[in-house]
Amino acid sequence: MKVFRTLKKYLWRYKWYFVAGFFMLLLVDGFQLVIPRITKAAIDALSYGTADSALLMKYAGFILLLATGVGGTRFFWRYWIIGASRKIEFDLRNRFYYTLLSQSVGYFNKTKVGDLMALATNDLDAVRMMAGIAIVASFDAFFMLTASLVMLALLNWKLTIWVLIPAPFLSLIIMKFGKQLHDRFEQVQASFASLTDKAQETYSGIRVIKAYVQEVPEFADFRVRNRDYMDKNMRLVKIWGMFDPLIGFVIGICFGLVLLLGGDRVILAKMSMGDFVAFSAYLGIAIWPMIAIGWITNLYQRGKASMGRLNVVFEQTPEIREIEKPVVLDPLKGDIEFKNLDFSYDEDAEPVLKNISLKIPAGNTVAIVGRTGSGKSTLLKIMLRLFDVPDGTLFIDGHDIRTLALEPFRRQVGMVPQETFLFSETVIENIKFGAPDATDDDAIRCAKIAQIYDNVIEFPEGFSTMVGERGVSLSGGQKQRIAIARALLMKPKLLILDDAFSAVDTETEEKILQGLAEFMADTTNIIVSHRISTVKNADKIFVIDDGYIAEEGTHDELLELGGIYADIDRRQKLEKMLND
Ligand code: ATP
Ligand code: MG
Repeated sequence: MKVFRTLKKYLWRYKWYFVAGFFMLLLVDGFQLVIPRITKAAIDALSYGTADSALLMKYAGFILLLATGVGGTRFFWRYWIIGASRKIEFDLRNRFYYTLLSQSVGYFNKTKVGDLMALATNDLDAVRMMAGIAIVASFDAFFMLTASLVMLALLNWKLTIWVLIPAPFLSLIIMKFGKQLHDRFEQVQASFASLTDKAQETYSGIRVIKAYVQEVPEFADFRVRNRDYMDKNMRLVKIWGMFDPLIGFVIGICFGLVLLLGGDRVILAKMSMGDFVAFSAYLGIAIWPMIAIGWITNLYQRGKASMGRLNVVFEQTPEIREIEKPVVLDPLKGDIEFKNLDFSYDEDAEPVLKNISLKIPAGNTVAIVGRTGSGKSTLLKIMLRLFDVPDGTLFIDGHDIRTLALEPFRRQVGMVPQETFLFSETVIENIKFGAPDATDDDAIRCAKIAQIYDNVIEFPEGFSTMVGERGVSLSGGQKQRIAIARALLMKPKLLILDDAFSAVDTETEEKILQGLAEFMADTTNIIVSHRISTVKNADKIFVIDDGYIAEEGTHDELLELGGIYADIDRRQKLEKMLND
């Protein structure tokens, strides 16, 4: 029942839709229950010879009127109740998206996209069906079953008892199959998630697949998963397929009993012809709910399982949360201090950063260099609190980063991540991503500083050109410079560039750095780079090696020291000489 706590809130929110829908449904049922009564009267009149055409016209007119009523009211219950279930789906989908949006970055490292897609499609559908059709059908089934049984008993209670003897078998079949249906449906869902995951990975990795000629193995892998999905579905269909015939068999027995026992009574004149026909008609009505119970059980089982899975997401609290009364740094000065910080992505994993102590005074430009995998990007990510660090190890403007209000802090940081990501929007929208209210002039000014302006104006529609799947394909360097412009437009107090010039040639980089000089005079800057030419003018350079700070100082001091930094410098000079 815990599963339904989430749903209860939404059912309550749309209660009036349900109330109105149920009312209409009752009318439909009422009309349907009257029709056999009229048929009975007409047939009795015919068999006793009391019928004339005027009377038959009257009965036909009634039936026509009722049929119209059934049609009209049926439209409304469907409109209201199916409508309510669509609204519930809408709310749940929004909540789902928002919950995911609030999760910290770490959550997405651990969660597969395929699983999320399956939740957003299959599972949400299953819950919608449960919240709409299944609820209506169970209400309808209960009402119709009771009402038609009363009608049957009124016509002939003894015969009713006889024909009801096979009914418990129906319940038995349903109980036996319900659990199995549930289990197999779960397996189908899991298999579907794995299939979507595969497809998703293929589409995003298509370039690598082509370059390494892996189409055939990829397809083979997909086929295996697809076959598994089909097999799981077939197992479900097998049970589902046995369900209907078994129920049909029981129904056949019921009608056989009516013919046998009821027919006998008509012959012995214990029952009128009209009663016999009406009895069959009410039995037909009573049987629908019995079948529906099986169907409803299925919908309910699926819905319950799916709701359970969605609840897991809904109840997921973001790993990174603000404290109760967070410190709002506005404006941010940009003083940063690490105190004996150890950091690892997983609790039981080797630390990625070890015993880091460093100070970055506000307004300084600091560079971080080091071998690949040494922990540079990690150092930057924790400065934005994308991952949590131990208490008392990282301070921003003198406050522990864990005590800060996240939004105002992050708004004042301009970060160009190592992996550039552009959205499928126009160039200008991508630049304005962090500052949607900025003017176009400002955005263009930042584009000029980032040295992307000249490229963009050559695109077919200049700054309004679409980027990505639906527009131009950009080079790595072009993407990086758009990302730099995006960070600048935020007017950050703290500018972080994570290897942001890696795809840009040294000449362009030089120009960007010159343009940035004025901008960077007012901000605290942290530059990660593999190139000595990028970092040599920094106020201070830290060399990270295997998670430790191995060296620190100015360019000249580090050359003097003759360690890792001097070594990198020597090699890069040599490389340059060979290239020139
Ligand atoms: P590069 O110069 O190649 O960008 P880097 O110095 O930026 O390297 P990091 O990206 O900080 O290196 O990675 C440092 C270590 O942390 C690596 O061993 C990497 O495997 C590990 N690591 C990075 N990101 C994660 C993550 N999200 N989860 C677990 N481990 C990670
Ligand atoms: Mg990195």
